[in-house]
Amino acid sequence: MTTFSDLGLIEPLLRALTTEGYTTPTPIQTQAIPLLLQGRDMLGIAQTGTGKTAAFALPILQRLDANRVKAAPRNPRALILTPTRELAVQINEGFSTYGKHLGFKRAVIYGGVGQGPQVSALNAGVDILVATPGRLLDLMNQRHINLQNVEFLVLDEADRMLDMGFIRDVKVIVSKIVVPRQTLLFSATMPEAIMSLAKGILKNYERIEVTPQSTTVERIAQRVMFVAREDKRRLLTDLLNDKAVTRALVFTRTKHAANRVAEHLAKSGVSADAIHGNKSQNARQRSLDAFKSGKARVLVATDIAARGIDVDGISHVINFELPTDPESYVHRIGRTARAGTSGAAISFCDADEVGDLRSIERATRQTIEVDTTHAFHAAHIATRSERSGGPRPQNRPSGNRPSQGDRNSRNSRGGKGGGRPWENRSKAA
Ligand code: AMP
Repeated sequence: MTTFSDLGLIEPLLRALTTEGYTTPTPIQTQAIPLLLQGRDMLGIAQTGTGKTAAFALPILQRLDANRVKAAPRNPRALILTPTRELAVQINEGFSTYGKHLGFKRAVIYGGVGQGPQVSALNAGVDILVATPGRLLDLMNQRHINLQNVEFLVLDEADRMLDMGFIRDVKVIVSKIVVPRQTLLFSATMPEAIMSLAKGILKNYERIEVTPQSTTVERIAQRVMFVAREDKRRLLTDLLNDKAVTRALVFTRTKHAANRVAEHLAKSGVSADAIHGNKSQNARQRSLDAFKSGKARVLVATDIAARGIDVDGISHVINFELPTDPESYVHRIGRTARAGTSGAAISFCDADEVGDLRSIERATRQTIEVDTTHAFHAAHIATRSERSGGPRPQNRPSGNRPSQGDRNSRNSRGGKGGGRPWENRSKAA
């Protein structure tokens, strides 16, 4: 089996990885690190959860270290562009963790907050800059940042930058980078606009693909609970009474519902917070920090707010409301069972959501097992779902933890491996 030292990483990085408890590189790391250490450009088709941050951060740190220069004010050597503040903070934390024995100076900049502290960080000297495009351009226009020394450029989640309308900004930013550079572009999907962007900025690049998501779905213990809409909140509190639910991410369709569910939980004595697009960046970060630190056991989120959130150790994803599109379902449940832990996904389905459940099952090519053992089981909804799609497996034990048998059967489906999200789903391009 490949180890991190087989990939050619230097000792200070290996030491940091050992401290983090990483023993085996993920497929994208195994494929990308040697290439990137040679200075090649790369197109990575991969999602959050595959280990892609370390796949680019480790080689960049090593190459920065191979040619050390004093960190210059306002002139980063490595620039990572990412669509959201949450991702920017996570990537910066990744560089901090992996690079902790190398002592590079970092700054992270994003919109929605005052620019003062960010400008100060840039003035203090910066080797590695992680940024969202809008704020970066803003600070460039004010001459707080100069990209003339950038040697390493990473475009992370390029498809989301496109969706969020950042591509023009990205192109302007890239056009300001002058030195011959190493460029990496990551995207979960490859729409035409991203492919043409990639062709325009990557030179003699290698394409690496780590997909598809559907196998991730198979690995997570999933259940559906048929419940009348008015009983959903009480069912949720019942589930959360189980101490096995150590860290739960609860999804609603709307911001309004997210607030209402979080308030209901707080009233019921469950430590909960909500995260959605109506909250300020600072409030979102506070909620996320409370969830990460365990101060809030439950985070209630909308799909948009939760995209890209990477919190380890989420024991349960609960779909308080089913999403209308199957892709969101896959994204949602992929927040659990990360980095080798087991996880459960529980979906509430009321009378109006039977059709959504069916389309999720069709798209993921599976039938989700029904849990009838909870106090609010709505037999008439279950019957309706049977009518629309044939018989379903039923009566799983109502324990909130995936049973051992369940975990085994899920893992055995994909062959060997301890059930890490990235196992059994990599393929070289
Ligand atoms: P990413 O796709 O970069 O967002 O990483 C997903 C999660 O996997 C993060 O929580 C990382 O800390 C973790 N991770 C990344 N690489 C490894 C590895 N080789 N072994 C164990 N955990 C890892």
